Amino acid sequence: MRCKMCGAELKKEGELCNNCMNKILREEEKKADNVKVYEFKRKFVLGYQLLQHLESLFIAIIVCVVLILTATEFLVESIIFIVLVILAETFVILYDRYKINHSKCTFYMTKFVYKKIAFFLF
Ligand SMILES: [Zn+2]
Repeated sequence: MRCKMCGAELKKEGELCNNCMNKILREEEKKADNVKVYEFKRKFVLGYQLLQHLESLFIAIIVCVVLILTATEFLVESIIFIVLVILAETFVILYDRYKINHSKCTFYMTKFVYKKIAFFLF
């Protein structure tokens, strides 16, 4: 007689397979484990976040400067564009801050759990 799940040899028909039982018990143990060994949270540091967006910030600043210096006849449009860029960057930074403040890593005795929040799939 063999176990239908894992193929291990069984002594009697209808016997519970030790192999599978142990596996299930280990899984249950892991699920029930709530002994926190260590927990840490990410920290939002504005300067560091800006540093990560340095490339796009740099390009945005260049475009803004060029617009102000050259597009004097489209001054209103230029100002609207600059405001939109500032708003977009602010939104991205605020979203990052929210994400960072709502994620944490927890080490348990038998597992590691990383909780995070993401609204826009990134
Ligand atoms: Zn089995």
